Amino acid sequence: MNDRIGTTRDGSVDRVSSFVIRGARILGGEPADILIRDGLLVEIGQGLTGGETVEAEGLIALPGLVDLHTHLREPGREDAETVGTGTRAAALGGYTAVHAMANTEPVADTAGVVEQVWRLGQEAGHCDVRPVGAVTVGLGGERLAELGAMADSAARVRVFSDDGKCVSDAVLMRRALEYVKAFDGVVAQHAQEPRLTAGAQMNEGAVSGRLGLTGWPAVAEEAIIARDCLLAAHVGSRLHICHVSTAGSVEIIRWAKSKGWDVTAEVTPHHLLLTDDLVEDSPVGSYNPIYKVNPPLRTRADVEALREALADGTIDCVATDHAPHPVEDKETEWAAAAMGMIGLETALAVVQEAMVDTGLLDWAGVAERMSLAPARIGRLQGHGRPIEAGAPANITLYDPSVRAAVDPAGYASKSRNTPYEGLTLPGRVVATFLRGRPTVLDGKLT
Ligand SMILES: [Zn+2]
Repeated sequence: MNDRIGTTRDGSVDRVSSFVIRGARILGGEPADILIRDGLLVEIGQGLTGGETVEAEGLIALPGLVDLHTHLREPGREDAETVGTGTRAAALGGYTAVHAMANTEPVADTAGVVEQVWRLGQEAGHCDVRPVGAVTVGLGGERLAELGAMADSAARVRVFSDDGKCVSDAVLMRRALEYVKAFDGVVAQHAQEPRLTAGAQMNEGAVSGRLGLTGWPAVAEEAIIARDCLLAAHVGSRLHICHVSTAGSVEIIRWAKSKGWDVTAEVTPHHLLLTDDLVEDSPVGSYNPIYKVNPPLRTRADVEALREALADGTIDCVATDHAPHPVEDKETEWAAAAMGMIGLETALAVVQEAMVDTGLLDWAGVAERMSLAPARIGRLQGHGRPIEAGAPANITLYDPSVRAAVDPAGYASKSRNTPYEGLTLPGRVVATFLRGRPTVLDGKLT
């Protein structure tokens, strides 16, 4: 049996089990060769031989990226995304593992559904898919789902979230936090007090006032985060906060961490770059629902606070909240449009723009926040390991030196709702290796 995977002269791909990545700058350091064999990183050094050569001069080598927050939409909304298309987008973005959110149709609230999503990921093979289990049955916010059965299933669920909806009932949230302790799970809260955000359309502030759109106050997020930090501390459990978007949220999380509580948090690329005034005036006009997202884009001061918090570790990681929607759900009037943006294929570029090129993070810091920390929070084995001999060969090769206009035409995602179209962004993912097998080479799927 032929067991080489590589690009042959006629462009077809066959199997190779050994690669030498030549001259890559691991976490931005000095150039080195990386020898990969049988799915593992075997050796790092100079002048290595013993496999198909991948030229990586000038490229940054990062551990394969891990996303804690991806909407793959399957089962149920295959018109927006499938596990196949979403994981292709993930691989092209440099990801080797994604956590698939539970708000599918049917909801991923049983062992059966999470195993189905996990199996679809395995069959697609572009990156590992770890399903997130719903906290409550049908995301209904009334009864706990079968958390233990999902944890014990083949999908080995460790992250539980009603994302898209907030677990607003304090008693249910307390019970969920208590329950997941049995299997070292974590509840990932979508912090949105429902009564304070009824009918909300965009960040509550000067812009929403001028545009006459119902405001989404920062306090609706901050009140839930404060409550849940207190609850997690009270029962001694782990809490993760999804897509933090306000400066006030950062202050509360900083305070909770200062108490030694087991609270972690994520921020999306779009909340690190974009602001609410785009709704009023942007390259694509005003009231363009491409900027409609949950939680909403906030102010410049919030963006500055989020960047600072990601740099100092108050916010642990970057998570895409990749939220694909078909054209008919986005290209409509503002009030009727779906909330959400795609993000897998632009995440690293946006983080470079917002965090690296601004001097706030180095590449080791990016690796921690886009690979190590999310794998740790999700208790995901085999991912988020430093690039060193003996680790699984999950590697992303990235060229930070290029800059190009964002063009979603070539995206692998089934949806096109990117807020970056027409902007120029830095960087390009050149290759992604999943357990020693290239899923992306030369910027293209293998
Ligand atoms: Zn959410």
